[in-house]
Amino acid sequence: MKSTKKTTYLLIGILLVSVIFVSCKSQSETSKQTYNPSKYYDENDSYWAQFLPNVNPSLDKDIEVDVAVIGGGYTGLSAAYHIKKSNPSLKVVIFEAKRVGNGASGRNGALVLAQTYSEGGFVMGDHKKYHKEIYDITVASMKRVKALAESTGIDPGYVLNGQCLGIFNPDNIESSKEYVEAAKELGMPIEFWEKEKAISMLGSPGLVGAVYDPNGGTVNPGKLVSALKKLAEDAGVVIYENSPVWGYTEGETITLPVVVKDAKYQVKAKSIVIAANAYASKTLGFLEDDIEPSHTQVSVTVPLTNEQYQKTGWKNQIAWYDDQYAGTDADATFHMVMTSDRRIVIGGGSVEYNEDEGLLYPGDLKKIEEQITHRIGELYPSLKGIKIEKTWDGIIAETKSKNERIGITGKNKNIYYALGYNGGQGVNVAFLFGELVSKLYNGEHHPLLDIYTE
Ligand SMILES: Cc1cc2nc3c(=O)[nH]c(=O)nc-3n(C[C@H](O)[C@H](O)[C@H](O)COP(=O)(O)OP(=O)(O)OC[C@H]3O[C@@H](n4cnc5c(N)ncnc54)[C@H](O)[C@@H]3O)c2cc1C
Repeated sequence: MKSTKKTTYLLIGILLVSVIFVSCKSQSETSKQTYNPSKYYDENDSYWAQFLPNVNPSLDKDIEVDVAVIGGGYTGLSAAYHIKKSNPSLKVVIFEAKRVGNGASGRNGALVLAQTYSEGGFVMGDHKKYHKEIYDITVASMKRVKALAESTGIDPGYVLNGQCLGIFNPDNIESSKEYVEAAKELGMPIEFWEKEKAISMLGSPGLVGAVYDPNGGTVNPGKLVSALKKLAEDAGVVIYENSPVWGYTEGETITLPVVVKDAKYQVKAKSIVIAANAYASKTLGFLEDDIEPSHTQVSVTVPLTNEQYQKTGWKNQIAWYDDQYAGTDADATFHMVMTSDRRIVIGGGSVEYNEDEGLLYPGDLKKIEEQITHRIGELYPSLKGIKIEKTWDGIIAETKSKNERIGITGKNKNIYYALGYNGGQGVNVAFLFGELVSKLYNGEHHPLLDIYTE
């Protein structure tokens, strides 16, 4: 899902309703000076929201903890779970600004992909010599998350039967074949599908080829959040929701103001984990010079009838995405999965960085929905005009550096972070990077830390 970033200066209307305004000035250089959550957090109105877990109570007193994790998405849930699991005596808590899964983890396009963004998209990235190693680790991780999530008794609906890059632009065939050859030489199970096979598997008549990776697939993101929340809580992690952290003051013990409605509580933490992904630069002032929170959208259709489904020719619900621009004016790839009740979940087409201070989507979701409906008709002419049931927006953390960001920082080396997965593989990678944070915390080795730690 690599994307071309389009910087826009859309200041369409002021969407902000100033519900609460609490002055929250702190000593930290990274603190925001004012608290106005309606400017940063919208409700998760996605199709997946119905599968999210019940919401926990907010923080209601000052507390002292060993580890405070900021953000309740896949990264935060994973970091908290792994740290607590390996250090059962520690008090590990998560503070989530809205509800767990309110961010990208509960709104995404549901593709589960191997590799990291900086190594993915069927190209050899910056870490060529590690390409196969990163592939193997991310593939093992997707199987591990599936097993861990299922162990909670909540089935997150993983279908790991592979994923595809569908090629429409003949100019992309040669480089794709070269990639597949290079990957095969490294021992990776990637295949190139000629036009006939691509069409027979994915159904879309305009395809001229495809690159197939048997590792990958789809999941129900809302159910995955539910399972991971249960996993973390069963391990002893305490999760406070509707409890935004508004800055932090460094020290041997870090002080965090948590603002709940019109009350402000103080949390003292020996260490913190910043797992607020796209929100981190604007709500915590963290990595402001690198992280660009960027908007991208997803739609879900009504369930296909059996006849509609047969006509698409799309086999085995294989998750796939297109080669970015071919035949459209889109500036980013479209990606799609089919749910078990045969809805198409399709997203992409554009990724917009909005330099406005807030994080609410300033664009027109109706227009996006029209573009997506049009694209479905191009991909599957038999589905022209199919009804879209819902379209929603979410934000991803694009980094100017184009790298994932993970490490330890702060004068006292007690601020851990993992974020910035760009538009790519976050559904799989975020959980893995949460695990890597726990390795950093425990001073343990992991091959990916050699590659990614700053
Ligand atoms: C529309 C969309 C489609 C996508 N499609 C795919 C896909 O198909 N496949 C794929 O691999 N990846 C996809 N992604 C990316 C993937 O979903 C993300 O990379 C991944 O979910 C990131 O997880 P996270 O936990 O790091 O961040 P998030 O899920 O964004 O979690 C961060 C959390 O921090 C909370 N928070 C923020 N600030 C604070 C604060 N100050 N105090 C307390 N809490 C705070 C937020 O409310 C949020 O819940 C998509 C993303 C979007 C938005």
